[in-house]
Amino acid sequence: MAGNYRTNEVGAPSPTDTHSLTVGPNGPILLQDHQLIETMAHFNRERVPERQPHAKGAGAFGRFEVTNDVSAYTKAKVFAPGTKTEVFVRLAGNAGERGSADTLRDTRGFSVKFYTTDGNFDIVGNNVPMFFLRDPIKFPNLIRAAKRRADNNIHDHNMTWDFWTLSPESAHLVTLVMGDRGIPKTLRHMNGYGLHTFSWINADGEIFWVKYHFKTDQGIECLTQAEADRLAGVDPDCNQRDLFDAIERGDFPSWSLKVQIMPFEEAKTYRLNPFDVTKVWPHNDYPLIDVGTMTLDRHVRDHHTDVEQAAFDPGALVPGTGLSPDKLLLGRSFAYADAQRARIGINHKQIPVNAPKVEVRSYAKDGAMRVLPVSDPVYVPNSAGGPVADPARASEIVWHTDGDFVRTAYTLRRDDDDWSQAGDLVRRVMDEPQRKRLVSNIIDHMCDGSGVKEPVLSRVFEYWRNIDPDIGAQVEQEFRARTGS
Ligand code: NDP
Repeated sequence: MAGNYRTNEVGAPSPTDTHSLTVGPNGPILLQDHQLIETMAHFNRERVPERQPHAKGAGAFGRFEVTNDVSAYTKAKVFAPGTKTEVFVRLAGNAGERGSADTLRDTRGFSVKFYTTDGNFDIVGNNVPMFFLRDPIKFPNLIRAAKRRADNNIHDHNMTWDFWTLSPESAHLVTLVMGDRGIPKTLRHMNGYGLHTFSWINADGEIFWVKYHFKTDQGIECLTQAEADRLAGVDPDCNQRDLFDAIERGDFPSWSLKVQIMPFEEAKTYRLNPFDVTKVWPHNDYPLIDVGTMTLDRHVRDHHTDVEQAAFDPGALVPGTGLSPDKLLLGRSFAYADAQRARIGINHKQIPVNAPKVEVRSYAKDGAMRVLPVSDPVYVPNSAGGPVADPARASEIVWHTDGDFVRTAYTLRRDDDDWSQAGDLVRRVMDEPQRKRLVSNIIDHMCDGSGVKEPVLSRVFEYWRNIDPDIGAQVEQEFRARTGS
């Protein structure tokens, strides 16, 4: 028992592993049993609130290495030729809770934190290149409609289809999720996308609009609905296990980061609104440009410390990178950091997984759980020689805008509509076997639980007819055949 003796939380030897302190062998228990009280009190406080979406995730550390020269578009050091940067990545489900099966038909979160020499830079994306909505004011409703009812606390796909069909801008992503890619085989066999349009600025001060694509080097692999249903029962943590096991055996997963670049001026006249996150930029118009490779090669220290406490923020930007007029992105640049303030506190950036690898010289002070000391001066401006902002170094990306206050949708461009890109996905990208599985997956999803009912049902048929008349007809025919309605 020389060295490996148990201690309490402040390092003193513990008296027991098994017995509470009692008056005689038959009790009662004594209040001064500090070990018992501490044990119960700590257990009662072990859970932090789970994330609203993306509650169940797996994570790993790794590295990002730039393999191409994109300095014509950005001066960001993290994207300078040859640069290597440590990363932390969290890959997660969406609507499911922390204990949900990994194989739900849904989007997956794909979040990357780059610990750059200019501070932390986060790309907080998904495994799909577009989103259900384009206005952040609708976001909480989207998530509520995918989670649980108020009365009986069950998932209800009638509620989900109700919201989707009343929000036609969801059609593109719903089509993708109902297709093969709606259930990735593992977290390694899926792409990641930054979703939004972001901005880059180069050393000459030229601004470009940019979309990030992490293409899996493992290849895309997906599960059929039947395989996913079986795994949900026999191995609900299969995706988490797969990522851990791959790193354990040295089979390090990697992704190739590519970008699409749109010149600043072109955005004003492009046939689609390039800031509408429910659309993609067709590759023919904006081809993918190589940037580098991201490899995950290191386990987290433990799940709670690094994955549960990881905090991503689309507003975490570094010089050379920026936001865009995408309304959902601008909403998220507030909401993500705020969610972490509510979930794990104002000083969550001092938790090691969130802490930058460079010195922090801000004027933030105090707050719950602050662990890094603060020194004077604690205000700015000051005459004590404290740090001062350097706008040239920060290189904030800004653009001209002018107009009345309005509550309205984006101005439509020539090819802006909610159905065309979804139809393109069905008709041009999917082949016939994939289209058959698409219809079958839609019917399965509509029939889950208590099933979709009128008035939602008629709207679902119309929604699919708008995407593709043929698919719409098949969905109605096969739904009626399956349900005898
Ligand atoms: P392309 O015809 O140049 O390429 C097709 C794209 O679709 C590839 O990125 C491919 O990803 C992806 N893809 C292939 N099968 C599926 C599937 N079953 N579900 C979802 N995505 C799939 O594409 P365009 O740029 O002309 O766009 C056509 C349609 O492709 C879009 O409307 C959109 O739905 C979809 N798409 C477009 C993307 C883009 O950024 N332009 C990105 C992803 C999808 P991979 O190469 O990894 O196999």
